[in-house]
Amino acid sequence: MWNIRMRASKLSDDHKEAKEIHISGAEGIYEEKKISTAILRYLRKAMSHSRGQPDKIFLTIERFKRQPLTVPLLEISSLPCNSPEEARMLITKRLYTLGISNEAIKKAFDILYCASSMRGAALIRMKSGVRAEPDTLRGVRASRLGIDNQSRRRLSMKLLKLGINTERVKEALILASKVAYHKDIIAELCISDNPDYTTGYTASKEFGYMRISNIKNQGHMSGGRVFFIKENSDISSIIKYLEKTPVLVSSIK
Ligand code: AMP
Repeated sequence: MWNIRMRASKLSDDHKEAKEIHISGAEGIYEEKKISTAILRYLRKAMSHSRGQPDKIFLTIERFKRQPLTVPLLEISSLPCNSPEEARMLITKRLYTLGISNEAIKKAFDILYCASSMRGAALIRMKSGVRAEPDTLRGVRASRLGIDNQSRRRLSMKLLKLGINTERVKEALILASKVAYHKDIIAELCISDNPDYTTGYTASKEFGYMRISNIKNQGHMSGGRVFFIKENSDISSIIKYLEKTPVLVSSIK
């Protein structure tokens, strides 16, 4: 099996400081014969993102030396909300039932609603609310993940019935399923940094992948991801799992 990763960026228009701005990213796990189709799809995604035109597109094509770990897809549900305020209130209630403290939830919202976007996710200790990742500007990237062909087809059919059969939803579900599988990760909260996309989600082993409408106002560049982790968990083993362990989603209820 092969892992393909794409990352597109541009240099900021601010001439005082040459800063690389993240535009978009994507990845998957493929058999060799599917590589060229996947690359074309990723190039199209990189070139047509509402965050702007990239100056650089990085493509990595890597053969896995070992079989990926297989994990189940999370159950899908929706939490309709009318405003970011209502979304915050319902998310807070939901995360609180998982034992996540108010401090940790507040820290997550501060990160997610702030304008500067990270490439990866913040790791937040679930009781103290302390940030745990070594590089807080970049965050931790969940990588080396994908879905097998049969599960992808079944997932498409399932999402079609729900009226949400998009690549964006599939990618988020695959990522959330890998993340939630780790024993020390209690929940994830995600707000897209795409200004046109106002549906976020929260995910966990307990209540699956829950889509939340109007989590932010239209036109906002803010967004990000937060993984709430057990208070005393070992950070290096979580990061190793998220970044390096190949994971294939391969069963759908
Ligand atoms: P997106 O859902 O692609 O709009 O991404 C929303 C935010 O999630 C980004 O701003 C990043 O902070 C974070 N993010 C995107 N991809 C990943 C990833 N593979 N692993 C961890 N965090 C990510």
